Order: sequence, then structure tokens, then C-alpha cells
Amino acid sequence: MHELSVVMSIVEMAEEKTRQHGATNVEQINIDIGCLAGIEFGALDFVWEAAVKDSVLEGAERIIHKIPGRGKCSVCGNQFQMNNIFDSCPTCQSYQNEVITGQELIVKSLIVN
Ligand SMILES: [Zn+2]
Repeated sequence: MHELSVVMSIVEMAEEKTRQHGATNVEQINIDIGCLAGIEFGALDFVWEAAVKDSVLEGAERIIHKIPGRGKCSVCGNQFQMNNIFDSCPTCQSYQNEVITGQELIVKSLIVN
């Protein structure tokens, strides 16, 4: 499952940062995830508990910020909300669009102790 590898890389990153700060566990983790990043939020929830078990993230408060998808049409310049990476421009129906936001997958901050 794709989401499992995503969570495992978040765990790895958190382990490293926590060690760097001489801490032993994470109290809170803030993650930005774009709605076009290909992450199934339900699946992420589903794998999270098992993936963080026995890691520094076990028991950490998890705050996920969903970044809405926005695209810009390369033909008419219109900016619009994208729910899917293959959405067409609502004004001219072009498929030549540039994704402006929505593909983020970033750990914004960690509170360690
Ligand atoms: Zn357009």
C-alpha cells in the first residue's frame, strides 16, 4: 500500500529529527498534504497506528492540513479548483493545466520532548 510507505518515510524523518534534538519522542506532528498528492486520507488513517507503533511517533498528536488543489490553465490562464490531477479547465475545457498547489507532502513541524 502506497500510504504505508508514505507513513514509513514520515516515521524515518521523525526518528532522525528527534535524535538530532536529543529527544525521545514526538508530542505533536504537523503535516501538510495536498489533495492532489495521491494520498488516500482514509488509508493513511488506517495504516498510521500500526506504522508508528514502537517509533518516536507512537502516541503523538497528528495534525494534518489538507491543501486544496489549484490548477492554472496554460491556454486561457484561468485558475480553478482541481479535485483531480486530470481535471480540465472549466472555462475552455483544455487539459493543458499546471498544478499550482495540491501536490505537497511536507512535515511542517514536530514538537519533541
Ligand atoms: Zn482554460
